[in-house]
Amino acid sequence: MHSSNSRPPASSRRRLLAGGGAVFLTATAGSLLAARSGGAVRGGDDRGRAAGGPAASPTASGWMPGVSKVPLERNFVHGDRDAQRGLVLHVQEGEGSLYERFNTQGMKTSSHFWVSQDGETEQYVSVLDRAWAQVDGNGAWASVETSGFATRPLTEAQVEAVARIYTWGADAHGWPPAVSERPDQPGLGVHAMGGAAWGGHACPGTLRSGQRAEIIRRVHQLLPSPGGLR
Ligand SMILES: [Zn+2]
Repeated sequence: MHSSNSRPPASSRRRLLAGGGAVFLTATAGSLLAARSGGAVRGGDDRGRAAGGPAASPTASGWMPGVSKVPLERNFVHGDRDAQRGLVLHVQEGEGSLYERFNTQGMKTSSHFWVSQDGETEQYVSVLDRAWAQVDGNGAWASVETSGFATRPLTEAQVEAVARIYTWGADAHGWPPAVSERPDQPGLGVHAMGGAAWGGHACPGTLRSGQRAEIIRRVHQLLPSPGGLR
């Protein structure tokens, strides 16, 4: 991220975990039965909410299991990915969930993932969809925002969390376990490597850029071995 007017994000955070139990409590028995028997998806928006329904998941889901799934309602494009080159590392220059900010009407910026200082991970956009994080790099790259500032390195928990995101992407979407220094080189890249075509930002700074080798080292440890055993 890069904007100069970053404000502390709203503390309210919407969590769309599977089940939506609180909503079911307010439904009448009739509507609940109708929703279940008719196959209609309650709420109308079934993006990313398949976990609550009976439908089988697609073979290569764009949603990472085991992290907080908080789908944006705007500020991204469905589909429109022309490659899966890997993941671009960003620095938030702030703290706290970016959900409210990225979901704001007219914001026109977003990322696929966000990682807090303690490694908490939120996913806002399926990696099969185009988030708006690095301009000309949006079609071929997924993106992760990391809380904190460019003047400070990623925490140990952030290094581990980004490694886990990357390992999932390597396994599910073929991201190569390597550091990337150029937009045409698949791997774990940084926002700054795209230059003017990616918005001309120094993000995420040299400290965090330099931690990619350690992240990729962990990815190699976490990846399923070719023999099949983890
Ligand atoms: Zn950035």
